[in-house]
Amino acid sequence: MSEKPLRVAIVGSGVAGSLLAYGLSNDPRFEVFCFEKVAADDYSLAGTGLNISPNSITTLRNFYPEVAEDLLESNLPWKEFNVSLVTGEPLISLNLLDVADDPGVRIRWADLYTHCRKPVMDRITFATDVKSIAYEEGGETLKLTYTNSQSDTVHELDGLDLVVGADGRYSLVRDTFFPKIQSRLCGMGICRALFYDEGKPNPLREYGQWFLGAHRLLGFPLTNGANYCTATFPIPIESQIPPEKKSVEGLYQMFAPEGVSLCKEAKFILEGIASEKDNLHWARFQVSDFQWQDEAGHVLLLGDASHAMVPTLGQGATQAIEDACAAADSLKLLYDEKNRGGSVVSALQHYRERREARVQFCSDLSDDASDTLRPDTDVVKDTLRKAQPPFLDQLSRLYRDVPKPLVNS
Ligand SMILES: Cc1cc2nc3c(=O)[nH]c(=O)nc-3n(C[C@H](O)[C@H](O)[C@H](O)COP(=O)(O)OP(=O)(O)OC[C@H]3O[C@@H](n4cnc5c(N)ncnc54)[C@H](O)[C@@H]3O)c2cc1C
Repeated sequence: MSEKPLRVAIVGSGVAGSLLAYGLSNDPRFEVFCFEKVAADDYSLAGTGLNISPNSITTLRNFYPEVAEDLLESNLPWKEFNVSLVTGEPLISLNLLDVADDPGVRIRWADLYTHCRKPVMDRITFATDVKSIAYEEGGETLKLTYTNSQSDTVHELDGLDLVVGADGRYSLVRDTFFPKIQSRLCGMGICRALFYDEGKPNPLREYGQWFLGAHRLLGFPLTNGANYCTATFPIPIESQIPPEKKSVEGLYQMFAPEGVSLCKEAKFILEGIASEKDNLHWARFQVSDFQWQDEAGHVLLLGDASHAMVPTLGQGATQAIEDACAAADSLKLLYDEKNRGGSVVSALQHYRERREARVQFCSDLSDDASDTLRPDTDVVKDTLRKAQPPFLDQLSRLYRDVPKPLVNS
């Protein structure tokens, strides 16, 4: 190889960062530096669980089938979409394989990180917190500084052709290179918990939701007796989660008011959440405009750093997976097109063009599917709509219309 390799720094080795590193690894045209601020064995920030959607598995099959197989083999599949009332009256039961080519996966968040990082463990520099990034003179290369939390030392890396911000929701890369955008709150609060059966009979079978008006319990079992459950409820837009709702007592008042007799699944979920009362994750739904590459064209955002969307259809980690696969592919295409004037700038533009409409569609559909969480919902009517052809067609597009490789290997 006569030309010097493209120097790429990936800030953040969560879902998107590790998969991008994997996509570029073993290709001598790229020299990849991959930073992760937590230590290799630190999963304290990777709480609870998640359902990654069928489109993530289909995407991985298209690009890295071995990663798809690994995820499916070690975790429980997600094949059903069941919705009932908290009293137990069933509303809809969808077989996801009617609208998808693959099942999704129910997984602990920490395990998802393990799967994504496993093939590139030796390439990730753990316990390194990237502190600053700037263009060098000439505006074509960048340098960054990072600290190593174990040795308490500061380091510099320069001559970078590309910096990728895969550093999640509170992205330093985004804050450094992109205009500040206001995220918009959606008027919904969520409480998430991971808990274990501990010998108790478990009525949860697959993925299920249980509604009381716009209040929704969601739960599914994971491997090894673990369960991932959430409680979602309306809150005033622009407000913090009101303190009277942000407690186990508050959840019981919202989901089990006097006169409502809970079905066994809803009871199990609330009891499980109560058993983890000191480890609950509370958050508000929010969305923001998307950001892709910076003006000079050498900084790219992926995953949560690029696009925040509501979690209703389980697209957060899934879109990070789609992003990473498509980004590696567009970067490789850069070299194939080099004789025709390809460059980092054109590769990032190429990536944006193949992703922009798709991410917007996934975000819009997630938003549309959140109608049952709005205070004015007619939960029965709005749920039944999701088993009708117009919505199912959209779901099929979500799960099947995934990125495909343009470059071999
Ligand atoms: C409780 C919870 C439940 C969720 N449930 C679901 C679900 O069911 N389905 C779904 O699809 N999505 C879900 N999501 C969203 C999903 O987890 C995210 O969308 C997904 O992790 C985004 O991947 P990412 O690679 O963009 O960012 P992340 O996975 O957040 O990775 C970012 C990485 O960057 C590192 N980092 C940050 N700053 C720096 C720095 N300065 N230097 C070095 N490293 C840095 C972080 O330590 C982290 O490892 C959930 C999120 C939460 C909080």
